[in-house]
Amino acid sequence: MAFFKLLARNRLALLGLIVIGIVVLLAVITPLLPLADPDVTDTPNRFKPPFSSGAILGTDHLGRDLLSRLMWGTRLSLAMGFAAAVIAAALGSAIGIIAGYFGGRTDNLIMRGVDMLMAFPYILLALAIVAALGPGLMNALIAVAAVNVPFFARNIRGITVGIAHKEFVDAARLAGMRDRQIIVSEVLPNVAPVIVIAMSTTVGWMILETAGLSFLGLGSQPPQADLGSMLGEARAALITNPHTSVVPGAMILIIVMGINLLGDGIRDALDPRLKSGALSRPMAATQVDRKDPVPAATNSLLDIAALRTEFRVRGRVYKAVGGVDLHVEKGECLGIIGESGSGKSATALSVMGLVASPPGVITHGAVHFDGADLIGAPYKILRSLRGRRVAYIFQDPLATLHPLYRVGDQLIEAIQAHEQVSKPAARARAIDLLKSVRIPNAENRIDSFPYEMSGGMRQRVGIAMALANGPDVIIADEPTTALDVTVQAQILSVLSDLRRDRGLAIIFITHDFGVVGQLCDRVAVMYAGRIVEEGPTDAVLSAPQHPYTSRLIDCVPTLGGGQRKLAAIPGRPPMVDRLPEGCAFADRCDKARDACRAGDIALVATDAGRKTRCLFPENMERARA
Ligand code: ADP
Ligand code: MG
Repeated sequence: MAFFKLLARNRLALLGLIVIGIVVLLAVITPLLPLADPDVTDTPNRFKPPFSSGAILGTDHLGRDLLSRLMWGTRLSLAMGFAAAVIAAALGSAIGIIAGYFGGRTDNLIMRGVDMLMAFPYILLALAIVAALGPGLMNALIAVAAVNVPFFARNIRGITVGIAHKEFVDAARLAGMRDRQIIVSEVLPNVAPVIVIAMSTTVGWMILETAGLSFLGLGSQPPQADLGSMLGEARAALITNPHTSVVPGAMILIIVMGINLLGDGIRDALDPRLKSGALSRPMAATQVDRKDPVPAATNSLLDIAALRTEFRVRGRVYKAVGGVDLHVEKGECLGIIGESGSGKSATALSVMGLVASPPGVITHGAVHFDGADLIGAPYKILRSLRGRRVAYIFQDPLATLHPLYRVGDQLIEAIQAHEQVSKPAARARAIDLLKSVRIPNAENRIDSFPYEMSGGMRQRVGIAMALANGPDVIIADEPTTALDVTVQAQILSVLSDLRRDRGLAIIFITHDFGVVGQLCDRVAVMYAGRIVEEGPTDAVLSAPQHPYTSRLIDCVPTLGGGQRKLAAIPGRPPMVDRLPEGCAFADRCDKARDACRAGDIALVATDAGRKTRCLFPENMERARA
């Protein structure tokens, strides 16, 4: 069902489907239609023009009714094309799966044979096969199917090789399944979509190829009509009576175009990577759909006010960020902490309009940087700020660094994106940057590829790249989550030195209270897209007021803290497309009362510089004392 919906969204594919549907339907019901006999000649009435009485499309050089011949010819051509495609796909896929699955010598033997077939231009090969077998419909079909077998074999082998070494195949083998079972139950379902895709994109060729053979007189034999032989017979009268060639020619064009449009649509709809809406390229900046008045600017360096960001996916609205207020000053480090999925990344990416749209939309609020609102700012302005004033460090440096370029070249590119500097000067700057993030032997390391570096080194390169244009704010989205603790400690000390030396403001996103405690002046705790508690790090850590915060802190083991039961938080965070009324944490909170579920709960100031979104905050006495 989802497949048809996706297909229907692709206008061209839908057009192809309709065209092919009509053609196939007509071909199927041809025997039932009141048509003249396609093979009866009537020489006195030869070359009647279209729209003559008794022959709507006219007659050919033997006086045969063109409409009737067209319908029967289309029927035959379609049948031949589809039959050839099915045969080629079945044989080719079987060969490909066997070669790819068994590998080694089997693979070598089979694939060298296939290579030999592929070495011939395929029309020549088809001609040679028909020449050997003798002209005729069946032989043309065999020839066309045979020349297309290698195409399927190669494609499917490639996919199978990838699958044959996957863990689930190993698991099936360990479970004692036989090769045949594994091929049928594990490999085939994975390659089936590829086979369908390859078929849908090649049926068009095969119709053309069979028509080509018939055109040369090697396929269907007179008086039987197929589109190719009709064209071939009309060749002699091309100038004097063009309608005899235009009629079959136009039908070939319609069929092949229709099939190709439909085939492309099927390919896109079946590709799992394109299902999530990735078919549409994300826009350069997040889409903005703000109706309410924009909050006023404040004096903070970066001020996020009442920000709401949603993802609109197939009729569902995921409120990833549900009204977040945050600010950060020069030289300050703000931590954002929360479980995975609480909206930390969506908040951070909204700042520079980096949330992918579609499906992301910013619906409310403002992000003031240096007094100017960035939400909905022209792309030119965003581009000039991205990296130069506000830079990002992401979680996985292996994914963010380009694998094929040396890290130095990537750093130089980052520098030159905003400044006109000569390459040698940029290179010198890049070396300085690498030194500033304490990469030893920077002069040589600059020429390394990302895969030649360790995780910690790569993340330092990521930080160096963020520093390349001397930004005022660095937004670090879980920069140490992929690293081990010792490397994490080094990265944190690099960041904290940079902050001191350069007066950088840092927004540090993490799910680790230990990290926040080391680095951040203030911390904001996020839950289900909203801030539930905010305040100076020490105060929040020593006397958390929101039950969620204290539960999070309880999850952190302390070294030398003696034996203590680590309390996991029961339940799961709510889905952001159907948030509960009232407090989103109520269902997991042991202190929840009816009032908690009654209505929206505000983030209220509790103590000096602290805010909590809870009706019954904890640790209030201790905080006051
Ligand atoms: P965090 O960074 O805190 O782990 P995110 O900001 O990445 O969380 O995600 C916040 C919420 O938005 C999650 O509930 C997630 O399911 C949802 N979300 C993120 N990206 C998409 C998307 N492309 N489509 C739909 N929902 C999304
Ligand atoms: Mg994230």
